[in-house]
Amino acid sequence: MHTVLKTVFGHDEFRPHQKSIIEALMNGQDTLAILPTGAGKSLCYQLPAHLKSGITVVISPLIALMKDQVDQLKRMGLPAAYINSSLRPHEVEDIKAHIYDYKLLYISPERLMMPEFRQFLHSIDVAFFAVDEAHCISQWGHQFRPEYRQLNVLKKEFPSKAILALTATATDRVQADIIRQLQLPHATKIVGSFNRSNLTYHVRPRQNIVAQILEVIRRFPDQSGIVYTATKRSADQLQQVLANAGLRVCKYHAGLSDGERKQNQEAFIRDQVNIMVATLAFGMGINKPDVRYIIHAEMPQTIERYYQETGRAGRDGLPSECMCFFSYADVALYQFFLKDLQDMQVRAEMERKTYEMLNYCQGAVCRRVFLLQYFSETLGQDNCGACDICADGGAKEDCTEVAQKIIAGVVALRSRFGINHVIDVLVGSKAKKILDYRHDKLAAYNTLSQIPKMQLRDLIHNLIGLNILRVSQDEYPVLALGDQAEVVLKGQKPVLIRQKSYEESRPQSAPEVQDNSLFQKLRQLRRSLATQEGVPPYIIFTDVALLDMSAHYPTENGTFLNIHGVGQTKLKNYGSAFMQVIQDHCRQNNIDPGRFKKSVVSPNLARS
Ligand code: ADP
Ligand code: ZN
Repeated sequence: MHTVLKTVFGHDEFRPHQKSIIEALMNGQDTLAILPTGAGKSLCYQLPAHLKSGITVVISPLIALMKDQVDQLKRMGLPAAYINSSLRPHEVEDIKAHIYDYKLLYISPERLMMPEFRQFLHSIDVAFFAVDEAHCISQWGHQFRPEYRQLNVLKKEFPSKAILALTATATDRVQADIIRQLQLPHATKIVGSFNRSNLTYHVRPRQNIVAQILEVIRRFPDQSGIVYTATKRSADQLQQVLANAGLRVCKYHAGLSDGERKQNQEAFIRDQVNIMVATLAFGMGINKPDVRYIIHAEMPQTIERYYQETGRAGRDGLPSECMCFFSYADVALYQFFLKDLQDMQVRAEMERKTYEMLNYCQGAVCRRVFLLQYFSETLGQDNCGACDICADGGAKEDCTEVAQKIIAGVVALRSRFGINHVIDVLVGSKAKKILDYRHDKLAAYNTLSQIPKMQLRDLIHNLIGLNILRVSQDEYPVLALGDQAEVVLKGQKPVLIRQKSYEESRPQSAPEVQDNSLFQKLRQLRRSLATQEGVPPYIIFTDVALLDMSAHYPTENGTFLNIHGVGQTKLKNYGSAFMQVIQDHCRQNNIDPGRFKKSVVSPNLARS
């Protein structure tokens, strides 16, 4: 396994969980792998595909990505093909006729539904099945695909073949759905941490949005980034403004024609433009590893969306930034979107999720702690050091006493009322609802009248983030006690809350480049090779590889193989061209390449 990892994929070590997933598959076990974006899920079936005899069949909903993946694999010396509706019948026949020339076959779920295609699969030696984006099977996921429902034919018709289901969606409901629908009751389940340690998270109130966005973009000159907007109109406007500012920027939303969308996406992937302004329609099926920043011009509708959209930054493991701008107007906008929704239960659920997103933006809890907690994970430390809340190390205020009064209020209301009602009680409101319930008679009534309502709301959001309170998921969201409520009430644990100071946090910018002039030359070479071959530049080498080269000046095969992502095939195909550029650069600048024998970059790839 390790030899193949190095010689074919050019990596020195497995990322967390890759090895156990691969081992499970090699033992023929059905496996459900739940790992965040960028964790390296593809390797989990590509490496066993290389080791096992027969053809590995990968089912993927993303037709656009299949070609990309196949191109990538070919360049690593792993023969692969895809069959989907973009091919002509004779091309399909050709692949089928020479199926044993390949190790991996990518297909769409629709293809699997064709009985004659399944006939074909029965006639060949299938190694195992990989179901990519497996959450598409669940209607609880955000990308439900009805065709995926029929994937139960896999276990029915190929009971002896192992199935690997892969997804980056963490909720229990979706996991259970995948296992049930694919009929994998005994699957080995492997769940990775959802912490994206190379991403930094920042949130700012929206003020002068154009200037605020430009501030971020200018810290990443020539790097790729995505600006998400909540509406098509806002995407159109922003794209125009940024283009007027002289930036290379295009847009993507549902209001454009298929052709325009495709063209713009292609321009972004191929580094012809470096900024994409888009609505949530953009991103599914984008594999670009070197997106350095994600800006949200308006806050997303839900935390799930936010996590998914920010997750598109830094797939290559290099430091990348997520900047979210928000305002109360965003909540109003989403509520407006929801007004046509007939199903009241769904509507209430979506509203709750929007408020949760607002909680995230307003809170003063570490962004990472909040996000991970949302996905039922604990970070194990209360300061991540890489978000706007943690970075400034801002002074914390002891809010224990106030927290206790708030908890007492929630207890008195027996966890049956929403945030607004709790606040009204605490500040001693004379609202009719309070008087009707006779809540003005509670001991908790009017105990926090000295605190402005807004501040109290902020505080409550912080207590939710700290797991001292929680919002229950009933029909109407009510404020209830969290796991930490009791220790706080008993005074066994102080409640320290960081003072919010949006101005102090200075986000870091792009990853450090050792020798920028060489890096730019290498990028130039990569771009021209990519154009020649008609593929996106990252398929030749990722930025991580180029940064590694510009730090270690490899000029011999031995040292070139130490570069991130360089295996035998890449060395053979591209080694001499890149080493030539490095050699020339060293000569021109009196650099002795022999001094830089050290191998392996250390971008922040460690995932705790
Ligand atoms: P995912 O599908 O989980 O989002 P990918 O399979 O696209 O992630 O992998 C993300 C990046 O990580 C790719 O650029 C890939 O080459 C790289 N990668 C995968 N496994 C390793 C590893 N063991 N060491 C270093 N890089 C890796
Ligand atoms: Zn933090």
